[in-house]
Amino acid sequence: LVRAVNVTKSFHDNQVLKGIDIDVHAGEVVSLLGPSGSGKTTFLRCINMLESIDGGRIFVDGELMGYEDRGGTLHHLPDKAKAAQRRDIGMVFQRFNLFPHMTAIDNLMEAPVQVKGLSKRDARERATELLDKVGLADKADAYPAQLSGGQQQRVAIARALAMEPKLMLFDEPTSALDPELVGEVLNVMRDLAQAGMTMIVVTHEMSFAREVCDRVVFMDGGVVVEQGDPAQVMVNPQHERTRQFLRRLT
Ligand code: ATP
Repeated sequence: LVRAVNVTKSFHDNQVLKGIDIDVHAGEVVSLLGPSGSGKTTFLRCINMLESIDGGRIFVDGELMGYEDRGGTLHHLPDKAKAAQRRDIGMVFQRFNLFPHMTAIDNLMEAPVQVKGLSKRDARERATELLDKVGLADKADAYPAQLSGGQQQRVAIARALAMEPKLMLFDEPTSALDPELVGEVLNVMRDLAQAGMTMIVVTHEMSFAREVCDRVVFMDGGVVVEQGDPAQVMVNPQHERTRQFLRRLT
């Protein structure tokens, strides 16, 4: 479902991605691990075009993201076409970025109504189901400020799902939470994984990576150092850099 081929990206003279190749199959749950600054967040943002790439290609569901390939030369897609591609990708950020002036249910209804043209009635029905799915049926009318960080993050996940994405990207979704709230968010993600959603998750939650993910990809210095079955990579890493990283966590 996702194929990245030799993706490069620099910020000024700082090359952050140095040729990333990753394939993610439909229904697969992949975690991206690696030290701070290794380019994990940048790579996620490149997938849904929050950052442009300097070289390489990213395909989602067979579509070249952000560009049109005319005989080997890439041309930027118009903003409208990019927005249409982005619509199929849900993203959940480290900081819950809900609309603060809207209730939980209105947060979920906004994009389906405004972007997809769903009727309010249908959007409300879907939003209600999703809030129920993330265990927040009773918080539909609460504003973000009235919710805990964990509840806000669950609303953010439900909001992304309201657009019926093909792919969900998570950028350290629990790292801004108090420790006692991490579990409720990971449980929602676990349910989503079990329901067959394709997910790429940047996380430092090793138990989540081990128990829920089909594969872990270890990045360092803008390259993929190694990847594989979580048990294999985390218990028996092949590369010294992976070993060092894992040692520091335990
Ligand atoms: P972390 O775990 O700390 O989030 P990361 O692996 O996700 O780290 P990135 O956030 O992708 O790493 O950052 C990689 C490098 O790119 C860092 O050196 C960072 O300073 C730089 N960087 C990221 N975004 C920008 C930007 N918008 N402008 C300039 N430099 C940036």
